[in-house]
This record gives sequence, structure tokens and C-alpha cells, in this order.
Amino acid sequence: MSRPLMLEQDPVERVKNFDEVALGYTREQAVEEARRCLQCKKPQCIRGCPVEIDIPAFIREIAEENFEAAAMELKKTNSLPAICGRVCPQETQCEIECVLGKKDEPLAIGRLERFAADFELARGVKTPKTAPPTGFKVAVLGSGPAGLTAAADLARMGHSVTIFESLHEAGGVLIYGIPEFRLPKRIVKAEVEFVRKLGVEIKLDTVIGKTTTIDKLMEEYDAVFIASGAGLPSFLGIENENLNGVYSANEFLTRVNLMKAYRFPEYDTPIKKGSNVIVVGGGNVAMDAARSARRLGAENVTIIYRRSEEEMPARNEEIERAKEEGIHFKLLTNPTRINGDENNWITSIECINTKLCEPDETGRLRPEPIPGTEHTTPADIMIIAIGTTPNTLIPTTTKNLQTGKKNTIPTDTTGRTNREKIYAGGDVVTGTATVISAMGAAKTAAKNINQYLQTKQQKSHRKI
Ligand SMILES: Cc1cc2nc3c(=O)[nH]c(=O)nc-3n(C[C@H](O)[C@H](O)[C@H](O)COP(=O)(O)OP(=O)(O)OC[C@H]3O[C@@H](n4cnc5c(N)ncnc54)[C@H](O)[C@@H]3O)c2cc1C
Repeated sequence: MSRPLMLEQDPVERVKNFDEVALGYTREQAVEEARRCLQCKKPQCIRGCPVEIDIPAFIREIAEENFEAAAMELKKTNSLPAICGRVCPQETQCEIECVLGKKDEPLAIGRLERFAADFELARGVKTPKTAPPTGFKVAVLGSGPAGLTAAADLARMGHSVTIFESLHEAGGVLIYGIPEFRLPKRIVKAEVEFVRKLGVEIKLDTVIGKTTTIDKLMEEYDAVFIASGAGLPSFLGIENENLNGVYSANEFLTRVNLMKAYRFPEYDTPIKKGSNVIVVGGGNVAMDAARSARRLGAENVTIIYRRSEEEMPARNEEIERAKEEGIHFKLLTNPTRINGDENNWITSIECINTKLCEPDETGRLRPEPIPGTEHTTPADIMIIAIGTTPNTLIPTTTKNLQTGKKNTIPTDTTGRTNREKIYAGGDVVTGTATVISAMGAAKTAAKNINQYLQTKQQKSHRKI
């Protein structure tokens, strides 16, 4: 038996709006799918979940039509289930471990997670009890999935938690990067609200490294968790990358998602819509940028990627949806130069075809240019989505904080940096990764911050 198909907006219609594409399971579909679960004695799926959800337990509740209880089960270890149910790559995490997958389709764990979380959101979220106040104060830097998860877990343990966020809205990439049609902002806001209800204070418009520094915060707080992500865009390093009409995916998506540029002039951030849009990259970010450009009204949107489709890091589901929406794919191609007009606006891109050679240090097949295949592609917008690294602001304004490769902040297995009381997790440690890996790292750090604070308390009691 296969999983029920999830309803989706029709591609012809959806390219004209920013509404969510996937519409979720109905009650009947969710119950039918949950009843396929074998309730394994030794469930393998939990192994694939970085936040250790008791997957069979929440599925059982859905199968028995106890939807609220299913949501409560999820919330025991995951404060952001409606987000995870939408954007986690379950196909390579919990679902790949599902034994049903050996003969048939694995259980649709992500869709069921989304169903239970949405059921609760629609009826009003219940706030769980937190432990009695410990008197300890923890500062969390950044309100993306890592920051929100660590803050929620620490608040549940009874600590007083303040999140410092540089932007004017909380959520990190969930709010400024991932578009509305994949992750509605009302969902992010509702789950941020849940974290607030646990007692977490969120201070917006506060840039650590400018408004204040970690060393200053350490005078007031007993521990600090850095979850500042990897928001610094990488560029190709080719000629004319500074022309008008060339965006980093970060800027493009922030203008569209956070600043609602698609509703300019009602909102005051403009964006050039373009008719020939080129997006460079093969990850989720490239798919999101291309699909956003299409919704802004571009007729021709082309993704240029230097490897083949097989190597594309984006989720298959998102590649398929991009194709359905008429996005063209120009694979095994690399841009080499950008051309512009007399007003410094981009007009075209020079490219070269590539072939795949033996793997590089990342284990992926290395693309090599094929001489004689140079060609020009018209473009009035170019969006570069080839990755990001952490910003250097925090390490350069914090005394003796060690940095690693590409501006990352390394930690030990407990999530601690080289400095006592300072922990880190998420993209700032690993470089661009996934929502769920950031949350997993945050949970580990929260556990160890708690342990550190308890040890500190025991020591101070002994002194008395
Ligand atoms: C467009 C896009 C699409 C993606 N799609 C997916 C997907 O489908 N599935 C998936 O699993 N992952 C996806 N990812 C990756 C995922 O979003 C990230 O791995 C995840 O958000 C990392 O979480 P984080 O909390 O570490 O950092 P972030 O989400 O980046 O949050 C960091 C926060 O820290 C704040 N901050 C930074 N510096 C400071 C400072 N100095 N002071 C105060 N605050 C600061 C930032 O403003 C931000 O709010 C996507 C990423 C992008 C960009």
C-alpha cells in the first residue's frame, strides 16, 4: 500500500500567487496513513530524527484519532513541529529508516507531523509546564531554528532565557529565506509565539557585535548560546558580478519574503521583476529563488548548475515542483562572465559547458570546463545561490573566540566553544545545513548548558 497523495495547488494557478503549494493531509488521509505504521518494537525511524521524537507514539495517537495528544507527543521534544513537518528532508532522515520502505513507500512521517501540528495550531496551542525557576540567565544569539530550540528547551528546564535577534522579526531563515509558498509566515509566527509562551523573551533589532557584545552579555548572563547562522552570501568571483540586477539569493529572498517586495509600493521595498532570470546553484535556495522569480512574473527562469541533476542538493520534491512551474534547468554549465549595458544593468551571461570528473575533497564529482563550448545566455536578472558562510561580526567582537574553516565557530561534542560558558550550534558551527540538524545541535547544547549550570549551582552550595 502506498501513502495517500497530498493535495497541492495546481501549478498553472500557483505560479500566480505566493500561497502555500502543499495543502496537507485531510483527517481521513492522516488516519489512513497512520494506520499503515507497523509500530515496530525497535523503531528505526527515531534513529533518523535529530530531535528524537517518539515517532511511533505520535503516529499511534493519530491512528486512534487523538490528534491533540499526537501534537503533545511531538512537542515533548520538538518545539517547531509545524515547521519541521513542512521543510525537513524526512526522505533522508526518519523516513529512510522506516521498514515499510523496504517493500513499499515508507510511512509519510513528515506529512503526519504537519497534520498533528496544524491540528493543534488551528485549535489554540497549549503551553506545557516549565520547571521551577533556577535563577540562571541564558542569552541566545539568533532566533532561527537553533536559537528557538535551545531557548525553548532551556526555558522548560526553568532558566530565564533572552534571545537577541538582529532583524525586526524572529525566525531566522524560516522567516527571511524560505518563501511563503513553502512555509507560510503565520506558521513560523505561531511557533515563535509558542516559544515566547514558555517565558522566553525575544529582543529584536539587536545586533550582537554592534548593539552590545558577547563579553558584555557575559557580565549579566550565566551562559551564552550562539545561533547566528550562516547568512553571508558567497559569490562566483567572475567579472561584473557587481552589475545592477545581480542579486545574492539572500538579498533577493529577503526582499521578497521579509520585506514583501511583491507587494511594492504597498510595502516600501522594490525588486526588479525581470523577464529572463538566471539562478545559479542547485540547492533548496536556488529552487526557492527561481520559484519566487516566477511568481514575481518572470517568463523565463533558468537554473544554471555546474553538475548534473543527480548531484543537486535540493530536495527532489522541490526540484519536481520547480519543473512543474516551468523553471528551465541548464545543467553541466558554469557562468564565466557577466555582460552589461551602458547603465551598468546586466544583459547576458557567458557560460561554458562542464563534464564531471573524479570526486573532489567533498566527495562530489568535480565539474571541469569543456573548451570550445562557450556560449552566451540573455539575462536581465541573475540570482547567485551557491552557498553562504557565517558572518565574522561575532568572532571579531568576542575576545579569544576561536573560529574554524570559512568563519565557522567550532565546538566540542557538548556544543561548547573554546570559551567556558559560551556554546554554539546550527549553521554557525556546521556551515549551511538543515533546519533539523540546527535543532538537533541546539538540543545537545541546551542539555549541556543545563548540566554546566547545575554543576555551578552545586559548587556554590558547597562553598556555603
Ligand atoms: C532559502 C533557503 C531555503 C532553505 N530550505 C531548507 C529546507 O527546505 N529544509 C531545511 O532543512 N533547511 C533549509 N534551509 C537551511 C536552513 O534554513 C538552515 O540550515 C537553518 O535555518 C539554520 O538555522 P540556524 O538557527 O542555525 O540559523 P538561521 O536560521 O540563519 O538563524 C540565525 C539568526 O541569527 C540572527 N543573527 C545573525 N547574526 C546576529 C547577530 N550578530 N546578532 C543577533 N542576531 C544575529 C539572524 O538574523 C538569524 O535570524 C534553507 C536555507 C535557505 C537560505
